[in-house]
Order: sequence, then C-alpha cells, then structure tokens
Amino acid sequence: MVSRVIPVDPFDLVVFGATGDLATRKILPGLYRRFFAGQIPDGARIIGAARSEMDADAFRAQVRAAIDDHVGAAKRDPAQIDAFLANLDYVAVDAMGDEGWAPLKALVHPDRVNAFYFSVAPALFGPLAERLHAHGIATPDSRIVVEKPFGRDLTSARALNATLAEHFEEHQIYRIDHYLGKETVQNLMAVRFANILFEPLWNAQFVDHVQITVAETVGVGGRGSYYDKSGAMRDMVQNHMMQLLCLIAMEPPYHFDPDAVRDEKLKVIRALQPVVASDIVRGQYLGTRSRGTDCDTAQPGYLQDSENPDSRTESYVALKCHVANWRWTGTPFYLRTGKRLRARTSEIAITFKEPPHSIFDEADETWRENVLVIRLQPNEGMNLKMMIKEPGPGGMRLVQVPLDMSFAEALGEEGADIPDAYERLIMDVIRGNQTLFMRGDEVEAAWAWTDPIIAGWEARGDKPQPYDSGSSGPEDALMLMHRDGRRWREIRE
Ligand code: NAP
Repeated sequence: MVSRVIPVDPFDLVVFGATGDLATRKILPGLYRRFFAGQIPDGARIIGAARSEMDADAFRAQVRAAIDDHVGAAKRDPAQIDAFLANLDYVAVDAMGDEGWAPLKALVHPDRVNAFYFSVAPALFGPLAERLHAHGIATPDSRIVVEKPFGRDLTSARALNATLAEHFEEHQIYRIDHYLGKETVQNLMAVRFANILFEPLWNAQFVDHVQITVAETVGVGGRGSYYDKSGAMRDMVQNHMMQLLCLIAMEPPYHFDPDAVRDEKLKVIRALQPVVASDIVRGQYLGTRSRGTDCDTAQPGYLQDSENPDSRTESYVALKCHVANWRWTGTPFYLRTGKRLRARTSEIAITFKEPPHSIFDEADETWRENVLVIRLQPNEGMNLKMMIKEPGPGGMRLVQVPLDMSFAEALGEEGADIPDAYERLIMDVIRGNQTLFMRGDEVEAAWAWTDPIIAGWEARGDKPQPYDSGSSGPEDALMLMHRDGRRWREIRE
C-alpha cells in the first residue's frame, strides 16, 4: 500500500513550554517525524518559547537530544535532522510578564497559518491568550492549542472558556484530547459509518453492554501532588473516556464535518443519566513489598506517592452509566480506569446479545457472545469474536474465534508506521480541521455530568477501597458487573 502524505503550506508554530516534558517527549519529536515523512515543508518555522534563557542553537541541541531519545532509529537520518533543526527558533518569554513578546512577534509571519501550542500549566492558558492578543501577535486566523486539563469542574471550565473567548473565536481554539488522535479511535467512526454491517446492530436491541477500559501499570509517582488534586475521574473519565463513549454512542453525523460530529457527541453527553452511588467504585493502589522482607516496600502505595497520608483521591474508578435515548436505553456502559493495574491496555469492547433462538442443542454450553474489541493500545487494531464450528468430527460443537485485524499486519508497512496521536492532531491544527478537538460546550457538558458524581462521594465522605498493585482493581468493581450477570474482560496486553 502506498503511503499518502499530503504536505501542508509553510506555517509558523509557536510551542509555549518547549522545554517541558510534553514538548520534549511528544510534540517536538512528533514534528520531526512529520518532517521526515515529507509533510512539513522547508521554510515552516517551529518556535520554542519558555522562560529559560537560551539561544536558538542551544534549543536546537535540546531538540536534537529529544529526537535521539524519542524517535526510532529508522527515522533518525542525520541530514534530515539537520534540515529539521534549521527550521527551529527559540524565544525566552514569560507568560506572566511582558518581556520577550516583541522578539516573538518579529518571528511570526502574520500572513501565514500560525498556531500557538499552550504546552504549559493550565494557569497560564489565560495569560498567554491575553498577551498574544495584547502584543498584536495573534491574527483573526491564528489558532491556539490548549492542553488538558481544561478546568477541574464546570465553574473553572466555564471561566477558562470565557477567558479564551475574549481573545479568540471558537473556530480558533483547539482543545486537545490525544485519545481522539489515535488511529483506532478514528477507525471506530470508519467502521461505524463506512460499513453497513454494524450500524443496524448498533443499538440496545442487539448490544448487551459496552465496556471501556483504560488500564495503566504505572503509579502516580513523580506527579503525585498534582494527581492528588485530580484523581481518575477528572484525569481520565471526564475527558478521554467520555470522548470514547461519545464516539460509540453518537448518531451518524450528516457529514464528517467538525461541527456535525461535535453536535452529535454533545447530544450523547447531554443524554447521560446521573450515576447513582451504588454504580461507582473507587480505589487506591497499595504498595508492594520487596521479596524476602516484611517491611520494606518495593513500590510505594498511592498514599506515599501522593505524599498525603489522608488522601481520599481515587487512582481507580469503575462506573456503570446509561445513555438515555431511543438508541441506547437498556444498554449499560461500563467504564473503568486505574493506575498500577495488571497490564497497560486501552480498549473498547462491544458485547452483542444472544441469538434469539439456538438451533444447536449440543453447542449451548460452548456458546459465547459476539464481541467487537477495539484496541487503542498496545497494538492498535480490532478484533471481532465470532462463533464457528469446532473443526473435526464429533457433532456440532461451537468454538469462539477472533477475526483479528491488527493495523500493523493488515496494512503492512503503512500500518506499522501509524503516526502518534500528537503528530496527527498538530497537523490537523495546521490544516484547520477541528473534528478531533473538543468544542467548548462539549467540555462544559462533560463537567456538568461529572461534577455531581464527585460532589456525591465527597458529601458522603466515601473512602476509596485499597487494591493490590498489579491486580485488576478493587473487589467491588468485579461485583459491579457480577450483580448484573456480566464480567469484565481480563486486563492484559
Ligand atoms: P512541564 O514539564 O512542567 O513543562 C512546563 C513548561 O512550561 C516548561 O517548558 C517551562 O519552561 C514552561 N513555563 C513554565 N512557566 C512558564 C511561564 N511563566 N512562561 C512561559 N513558559 C513557562 O509540564 P508538561 O508535563 O510538559 O505539561 C505541559 C502541559 O501539558 C500541562 O498543561 C499538562 O497538564 C499538559 N499535559 C502533559 C502531559 C505529559 O505527558 N507531560 C500529558 C497531558 C497533558 P520554563 O521553566 O523554562 O519557563
């Protein structure tokens, strides 16, 4: 299969927070990969900005090191790296002060596509928007890219939307959720809306339930005090998992157009029912002991990682929710996410109902439901579990087999070379395509659903349940499914 890379016109991209973790690990190496792929033309300018004083050469040296660390050897071509670095510049600028803005203005071409990536702490989003405007750098066509978290509740999200709206129109604001940049997530829309096979079955009449799992093996170490003010509900459910749920549950948009898609997602969020206390389980991971000792912990538990011995913040949450509309009433959606779990995996599993009548008496015990599994990581791909006859003589015994489509295998070289979510999303910003970015009203609706859930457990004084590191989460999360006669899928890579 021939790879199709459509180059864009020269642009200016200013990365605020260019010396930070996200820029170093994802944004700048991702831009290099797009350059290597031939998508970014010579003459495009990538301008790093942060408070640290350094010249452009020192910044280029930092980016060269970031490319060495985060780009695979096959794409680390010295001539290409040099050519990419030649397009880089750096300006020392403080989001909270007025120094550095004039040199930045001198570097940004007002007549080109120009974009400003806010890869800085959320408290700086407002000041950056304000100063870009005040110093005459932003034009009516400029774009700003805003990282998560977008607020910590409805009130703060509204305030942030209002601040950004003072300086930028909604069509200029790109609220990034990197889950939406994943190949499989977009493929979910292709599978649903470019095929006739699934859509007639995609409703409560045929879908028994949906499971969305985002499991991580890492704890919160290193950013424990930040995470302790957030928790799994704010950090994962309100944004990433809600977006996945929307793409599964939404009605077909009339066109694959940013507002048409986002209108349909918004309707799903608005149709979400409040979640009752008995449908939520929260957990906190425990530490692990070193082998051979009974007191040393090999890995700290959540309470040590967060440096807050009284913390009631959840590192795990599982919940059951309902989308109350004609399509989905009667089909529960089960969401779970947690840290320090058994394996790192993100997947959506759509479990279909039993056929209305079985003609295979002998096969009753071996019958399993059809399940469509959409894997986000690792090994992005899809897998449809189907029943077939077990080969060989001995009567009609059924066996479940996967129809497996790993993108890497199915699409050969091109599939193995799937761009990172950040790469894709940054190029969408340059092309001016907002389909995979959250609109302000979507974010607010998501908080409006999340806030009462959090307020509920805070008012009850609920404590998260401890769970073992390396497990599947708290026992009660299993019960959440068992009592409905269902099971979570095993967490494994
Ligand atoms: P970080 O490592 O702490 O980097 C922050 C960056 O901001 C640094 O380059 C810092 O450089 C710059 N900065 C700090 N204060 C500034 C100021 N007053 N004016 C201008 N620049 C300033 O943070 P990060 O992990 O990269 O995260 C950046 C944003 O992305 C945050 O909103 C975070 O929530 C979000 N995010 C991060 C990740 C991730 O994996 N890291 C994932 C999802 C979302 P100087 O000190 O030199 O100014």
